[in-house]
Amino acid sequence: MYDEKGYHETDTMKINFPIFIVLAILIFPEFCRSAPSCPDLNIQVKDHLVSINVKEKPLKCILDQISQKTGIDIKLWQDIEKPMTMMYAQVTLEDFFSRIGAANALVYTYLPEQKTYRMIAVNMAQSHAAVLKKATDTKKPILPKPRINDNARPGELLIRFKDSVSRDQMEHLHRFLGSTVLKQIDGLNLHRIRLDPQLTREKATQMYLATGLVKTAEPNFLRTVQTVIPNDPRFDDQWGLGAISAPDAWEITQGSHDVIIAVIDTGVDFHHPDLAQNIWINEKEANGLDGVDDDGNGYTDDIYGWDFADTDNLPFDLASRHGTHVAGIIGAVTNNSTGIAGVCPKVKLMVLKVQKNGEDTMETMAIVEAIVYARKMGAHIINCSFGGGDSSTNEYDEFEQFQTANNGLIVCAAGNGGADTDNAPLYPAGYDLPGIISVASSTKTATGEYILSGFSNFGATSVDVLAPGDDIYSTIPGTRMADAHLTIGSDPAPYPAVEMEFAGTTDENGITGNLVDCGYGYADDIPVSVKNNIALIQRGDLYFHQKVTNVQEKGAIGAIIYNNEDPTDNTLNWTLLTPGDWIPVISVAHETGLVLRTHNLTPVTLVNQMIEDVAAYGNISGTSMAAGFVTGATGLLRTRVPEEPFIHLKQILLQTVDIIDSTQGKLVTNGQINILKALLAMNLPGDVNKDFKLRLEDTIQGLKTLSGSSSEAVSPDISHWDANHNDHLELIESIHVLQKKAH
Ligand code: CA
Repeated sequence: MYDEKGYHETDTMKINFPIFIVLAILIFPEFCRSAPSCPDLNIQVKDHLVSINVKEKPLKCILDQISQKTGIDIKLWQDIEKPMTMMYAQVTLEDFFSRIGAANALVYTYLPEQKTYRMIAVNMAQSHAAVLKKATDTKKPILPKPRINDNARPGELLIRFKDSVSRDQMEHLHRFLGSTVLKQIDGLNLHRIRLDPQLTREKATQMYLATGLVKTAEPNFLRTVQTVIPNDPRFDDQWGLGAISAPDAWEITQGSHDVIIAVIDTGVDFHHPDLAQNIWINEKEANGLDGVDDDGNGYTDDIYGWDFADTDNLPFDLASRHGTHVAGIIGAVTNNSTGIAGVCPKVKLMVLKVQKNGEDTMETMAIVEAIVYARKMGAHIINCSFGGGDSSTNEYDEFEQFQTANNGLIVCAAGNGGADTDNAPLYPAGYDLPGIISVASSTKTATGEYILSGFSNFGATSVDVLAPGDDIYSTIPGTRMADAHLTIGSDPAPYPAVEMEFAGTTDENGITGNLVDCGYGYADDIPVSVKNNIALIQRGDLYFHQKVTNVQEKGAIGAIIYNNEDPTDNTLNWTLLTPGDWIPVISVAHETGLVLRTHNLTPVTLVNQMIEDVAAYGNISGTSMAAGFVTGATGLLRTRVPEEPFIHLKQILLQTVDIIDSTQGKLVTNGQINILKALLAMNLPGDVNKDFKLRLEDTIQGLKTLSGSSSEAVSPDISHWDANHNDHLELIESIHVLQKKAH
């Protein structure tokens, strides 16, 4: 049933003849009990055993009468009009279904809680030939099943309907099988569903595919970021840049803000001073209206990209450092003296977050949606510093679409298992797509040599190149940017506090008002006396932004939220979720909250002073980082030759590696990328003197070479060819050359 890319519709067709071809358009797909009228059939049920002897009778009538006689509900997805003949004596109900299922191409399941059989007639319309072949080709050897890790969300499937299927049909089918739609990507007809708990994923997959309405059905696989626990940093420099000749490459190009690189990851700290200038902005949304999908792409206020895990417009790296670190490797801004440099210092980074804060896996559903977004919003390169052992048809299909539609490259981490991925593939690095570059990690030895990192996966056919990945220094989310504290009455001793993200700020003197206890912040808890005063709110079930909205609406000028459980912890990274017109809000520990409650209606001073956004850096290791280096390199290449086909860009990058003998037989290229060599090898069509610019000089140079008058490679003798003596070489000179050549 499984293959490398999940399930396919043809895989369910292991049935015998005769085959019923059901072409009906589904108008009332569920069994309609009113028609036709059925005569009493020769069916007996005794001690749960069925005896039946019928000739040329509708299946619907047969099932209906078995249902009546057994008390078991039998639902048929779609009527089968061909009359049936069957004769069984004293078979169990299960055996009966098994026999008619096999004989009539029915897949079915029994749901014990509802005492219901649900049956679907296999739709053979499109797969008849394949089934015929399968049924007759009995001598074909049985191949071993591919290894399936099945690291996926339990009880969920991703169902992709065919384009022709209507919304009504989709909803009908979900209802018939007891599924709940959790999320959908409309343009793709892709639904993430929760299954009826009585249905296994395998059974549900079989049933969905049997309808003929579904293109693919696969588990919602999980991916993880490809980092290893860092050692103590051994390098505080950016050794990786030198390893791939990036500083020399910057003499040719430092990239361009026209090149858009999508970072599908844990989010990015897009306020980081080394990143802010290079973050992609959706201009239509940035200049549009709040709460309006200004560009009509299905996402409201997606100014900085999108958070596909939490379904909001804030793809901020709150809980993980991973996405911020990778983004810095690809494209940190270089012009500030203290910061770091990315491989591609001028670029636009599109931030697509696919992992919830505090979780350590990402769902393929979120990843697929992010790929579609990257394609539609015009990204040129996608960085995938994540992987998993299960292959997803949806992920594969969308990467294929992306590379074709956007002339795009996809750079993927080879993974950190220290294993040969020729035998145990990791995806997406392992997909056989020409636009994918799979990257292993290198380490710099004490003697300055580069070797494959011990943690890095490798593979003579599945991993393309090496890039720096060990102990990499890059950006991490900045430390919090405010001084928050609190004083009670005239006592100058401050109580420690933490500012809440996106909250309003004060000056160093803060704001003073009477403290008003507002319970858990429900609208009914809030006294009117909070107007022009400071609200005290306990942490509870209500979201922080809702509590603060409630007190703000009643006129509070500030708010203090205290923890309900941990007595000392006031360091939680609480957030009001989105930027907005918030009053100053700080959070304090539980014990501080208890002290405050004894000071109800007395004056307090709340300080939430903005200081600055502090840049932070750290060392992390992994093929995640190595992928970032290659992504940055492809950004530089793409800047030089934006029209060049993606396949050619990949070829150039792979053909110009520095060969590393110790990786012999472990990588497609046996080497580490060298971006300078790649840029030098990149020929602009017509760039005769190879200065990476197309100018008249190239024409002149080319003509000179053709005419045999000169074969010099650079610096043409301008005075000799300047026919009209204006100190410039122009088209007229080309014509002059041509005329001379013609005589
Ligand atoms: Ca939008």
